[in-house]
Amino acid sequence: MSRPTALVTGVTGQDGSYLAELLLGKGYEVHGLARRVSAGATTHVDHLLADPYEGRGGLVLHEGDLTDSSRLVSLLSEIAPDEVYHLGAQTDVAASFAQPESAADVTGLGTIRLLEAVRLIDLDLRFFHAASAQMFGDSPSPQHEDSPLRPRSPHALAKVTAYWAVRAAREVHGLHAVNGILFNHESPRRAPSFVTRRIARAAAGIALGRGRHVTLGNLDAVRDWGFAPEYVEGMWAMLQADEPVDHVLATGTAHTVEDVARACFAHVGLDWTRHVRFDERLVRPAEVDVLVGDPSRAARELGWRPRTFVPELARILVDAELSVLEGPATGMTSLAG
Ligand code: NAP
Repeated sequence: MSRPTALVTGVTGQDGSYLAELLLGKGYEVHGLARRVSAGATTHVDHLLADPYEGRGGLVLHEGDLTDSSRLVSLLSEIAPDEVYHLGAQTDVAASFAQPESAADVTGLGTIRLLEAVRLIDLDLRFFHAASAQMFGDSPSPQHEDSPLRPRSPHALAKVTAYWAVRAAREVHGLHAVNGILFNHESPRRAPSFVTRRIARAAAGIALGRGRHVTLGNLDAVRDWGFAPEYVEGMWAMLQADEPVDHVLATGTAHTVEDVARACFAHVGLDWTRHVRFDERLVRPAEVDVLVGDPSRAARELGWRPRTFVPELARILVDAELSVLEGPATGMTSLAG
C-alpha cells in the first residue's frame, strides 16, 4: 500500500512545523506550502527537509502564496494529496486592526481559493482548516461548537469567512472538510510578538541579568492556553474520523495574562509585579475578555485530551528561552527533543 500524502499550508509556522513532524513520524509523504519570503525563514522545519543529494526523505517545500489561486491549483494537481491541513493565515490579531484588507485576503479569501482549487480539480481528499476561538468574540464562555460567532477583530472576521467556506464545502459540495476551532496553544516556536513568548523571553532574560522590564497590554484578558504539539495531534485525529465534524480543541481551563506572567517569573524565582509594566498602546481597539473552550466533544468523539496546562506550559516556555539565551548564539528558537 502506498503511503498517504499530506499538504500542509503554513508549514513554516508553529503548528505547521509540529504537524509536519507528526505526519513524517506516521509515515506520510509531507509537502508544505511556503511563501517566497519564507526562504531563509524556515528555522522550524530545516531539520525536517528532504535532501535529494543525501537521499534523505522528509518534508518537501513548495513555494506559493495563499493569495495566488493558479499556484494553489497547480500545486494540488501536482501533489494530489490525500489530506490537506490548511494552517496558513495571518495570525496576529493585533496586527489585523492595522491591515484588515490583507487579513481578509490571506485568511478569508485564501481559504476560499484553496477550497475552490480542490473543487475545480475534483480531488478526493480530506481537508482540515485551523479555525480560531477568536471567532467567538464576546460569546458567553465556555465556548463550544454551537456557540454564536461574534467576531471583534479583522482577524476574527476573516476566520469566520473561512469557517463558513469550509462548512459550505462540506454541506453543499460534499467535501470531507472540517474546522478545528482552536483555542490558544503555545510553544517555544510561537512567533516572538505573541504575549506568552514575550513574557517567557523577558522572564528568562531578566533572570540572566539582561533587562529589567517587559511591557504588556491587557493583563486581565482570560484565555485557555494549551501546548501546540498536542493540538496538532487533535488536527490529525479530526481527519481520521469517519464523519467530517467540527471540533473545539482547548484545555477548558481559564487563566489571565497576569497568571502567565506570575508563573513564568516564579519559575526563575522572580516576582512578576516588579518586572511587568502596563502600556495602554498595547490594548487592542476591541478586546475579547474571556475565551475558554469546552473540549468535551473532542474528548468524547476523538479521544483527544490536552495534557499540558498553564503552570507546566510556563516552565516549558521559560526553559526554552533560557537555553537559547545561555546556549550558542544561533538565533534558533526550536524546542529541543
Ligand atoms: P503561525 O506560526 O503564525 O504560522 C502561520 C503560517 O501561515 C506561517 O507559516 C506563515 O508563513 C503562513 N502564511 C502567512 N501568510 C501566508 C500567505 N499569504 N501565503 C502562504 N502562507 C502564509 O501560526 P500558528 O500559531 O502555527 O497557527 C496555525 C493556524 O492555527 C493559523 O491558521 C492560526 O490562525 C490558527 N490558530 C492558531 C492558534 C494558536 O494559538 N496558535 C489559535 C487559534 C487558531 P510565513 O512563515 O511566511 O509568515
